[in-house]
Amino acid sequence: MQTDVLKPQIKGRLAPSPTGALHLGNARTFLIAWLSARSKNGKVVMRMEDLDHPKVKPETAAMACSDLRRLGLYWDEGYDCGGAHEPYLQSRRVHLYRDALQKLLDKGLVYPCTCTRRDVESAQSAPHAEDYQGYNGICRDRYPDFATAEAFTGADRLPAWRFFAPDREVTFIDGFHGPQAVNVARTAGDFVLARHREGAGYQLAVVVDDAAMGITEIIRGDDLLDCTAWQLLLYEALDLPAPQFTHVPLVVGPDGKRLAKRHGDTRIGHLLARGNSPEKLIGLLAWTCGWAEFGEELTARELLPRFSLSAIPPAPAVIDTQISRFLGL
Ligand code: GLU
Ligand code: ZN
Repeated sequence: MQTDVLKPQIKGRLAPSPTGALHLGNARTFLIAWLSARSKNGKVVMRMEDLDHPKVKPETAAMACSDLRRLGLYWDEGYDCGGAHEPYLQSRRVHLYRDALQKLLDKGLVYPCTCTRRDVESAQSAPHAEDYQGYNGICRDRYPDFATAEAFTGADRLPAWRFFAPDREVTFIDGFHGPQAVNVARTAGDFVLARHREGAGYQLAVVVDDAAMGITEIIRGDDLLDCTAWQLLLYEALDLPAPQFTHVPLVVGPDGKRLAKRHGDTRIGHLLARGNSPEKLIGLLAWTCGWAEFGEELTARELLPRFSLSAIPPAPAVIDTQISRFLGL
């Protein structure tokens, strides 16, 4: 008897930003996301998030895919292989973000804002502002449309699209951090959706794409935990079903700061070129997640039966001198 047919298909995604090469930090998050979906017989999507224009380096997109494939991760649809939800490059999906923005505009949920960072900060230091950190909504009724706001800012600066944050708690259960309750109006205020006439900014794009691609679970770094409530508000406003969210700890250097160039060259391509096998790297990442002994060599597939979110230590994983030496850095 086929009972599986009744179960909804699990679908996860890897969503790199092609702003730099894949390093141990992103690789660990992607490994966790991949194992979570695959261990439940789920599908995996590879989506390239290239909207952060000034920092995007196009050649890193193909490199991230090939590095992940060398680590033994594979996907069912995505940037380098196509699929039912093409295109998988965000800069080619701008029409979808424009439609979503129009829907929010029709509902009166977004407005253009011309405030500078300094305007926002000085409003925060005004008396009685302490109950509400974040943006105070002074542009709410200022401009009839984006063009009027653009005429105000002039050519050197774009207005932002802001979303009306309701003054109530947004609740969700994070797969790693547990129950969350966030009042977006009090923490962030009316948040920025995009600085682009067509609404092509990360917050809106990620929601539109995850919904369009049928993603049921999002696993990503816990630096994005704070904006999950914002994204949930967008799901609601756009009448889209929200996925399950799980935020996992980041990888940091010995100074406790997010892994970066100054911590040595932990790019996957570099580590492989130095003679570290994919199995050695996967084994090391598995060890940082509490799934393997130090020095064990494993394939990503071999980790499937060992996958457990609850085994992952809550503190960030530290790439210390022991690990650097182990990797020949
Ligand atoms: N592209 C984003 C990043 O690399 C991740 C976005 C997400 O997972 O929602 O930081
Ligand atoms: Zn404003």
